[in-house]
Amino acid sequence: MRVLVTGGAGFLGSHLCARLLGLGHDVVALDNLLTGSTTNLDPIRAHPRFQFVRHDVTEPCDIPAEAVFHLASPASPEGYLRHPLETALANSNGTRQALALSHRYHASFLMASTSEIYGDPLVHPQPEDYWGNVNPIGPRSCYDEGKRFAEALTMIYYRQYGLDARIVRIFNCYGPHSDPHDGRIVPNFVTQALAGRPITVYHPGTQTRSLCYVSDLVDGLIRAMFTPGTAGGVFNLGNPEEHTVLEYAETVRRLAHSSSAIVFRDPVSADDPQRRRPDITRARQVLGWEPRVGLEEGLLETIEWFRQRLDVARV
Ligand code: UDP
Repeated sequence: MRVLVTGGAGFLGSHLCARLLGLGHDVVALDNLLTGSTTNLDPIRAHPRFQFVRHDVTEPCDIPAEAVFHLASPASPEGYLRHPLETALANSNGTRQALALSHRYHASFLMASTSEIYGDPLVHPQPEDYWGNVNPIGPRSCYDEGKRFAEALTMIYYRQYGLDARIVRIFNCYGPHSDPHDGRIVPNFVTQALAGRPITVYHPGTQTRSLCYVSDLVDGLIRAMFTPGTAGGVFNLGNPEEHTVLEYAETVRRLAHSSSAIVFRDPVSADDPQRRRPDITRARQVLGWEPRVGLEEGLLETIEWFRQRLDVARV
């Protein structure tokens, strides 16, 4: 099958492309490299069934495909706060373009949405039928409102045009290929721990997240796209194991054998959600999916990957 991955040079997109190639598909990765990097594609660049196209998804494009994974968008808080307009447009105009292409080629479509559409949730853990608690004019709204609009557009194409479309809401994930400079919790804590620099916990430190290892997440994306009967469906994908940010700092420091201090800092943005944990009952039942990689196993893999990168950077 010919598969198009928008945002294919990003953290998740590059892992997804590699997995799709392994499954025997022809893969086209589309990316404008705003926050993605071709370095992420190095392991698959020479693959005979792989093609990279540098293109901004907000502009029309004509790439025949039988399945379209729409991942293109800055996704880390630092990334979308730095590029708010590009983020809002990737999720509005960009989603429109990806949907129009899918409609033209009768392709299956997957919208990569986010747990951020739940905002600072008043319901915990978050099931798919929770509508969220989002600040529509806050600094994060370029992303969370952008993704909410993308979900609405996806459902229009599903209802009006019968497009074979589904939505996944991706909770925090981590692993190799994450950008060490994107400001997210795991890249920050791991690079700080390895360099012996202070580990920066943003106030209050009691806020929680549930971290999913990237290989599990990619498995969920593929099941959501290819499991029969998922059209029109919405699925949370994430790991329900929940910890405080301070606990993650302590775990990373221990696993990296680091003597870094743990220090408290102000968060990079207002509206930092205080709790986040997916209810994955639906993904378990409909997709037969659940995460398999434990936190310590995944963090050790990630620490090792960052350690090698930092060693190379020092040479
Ligand atoms: N965080 C932190 N220190 C850091 C980076 C992040 O304490 O150096 C916190 C952040 O305030 C948030 C959580 O970790 O509560 C997850 O942040 P991230 O940027 O990874 O993603 P988010 O879940 O906010 O989209």
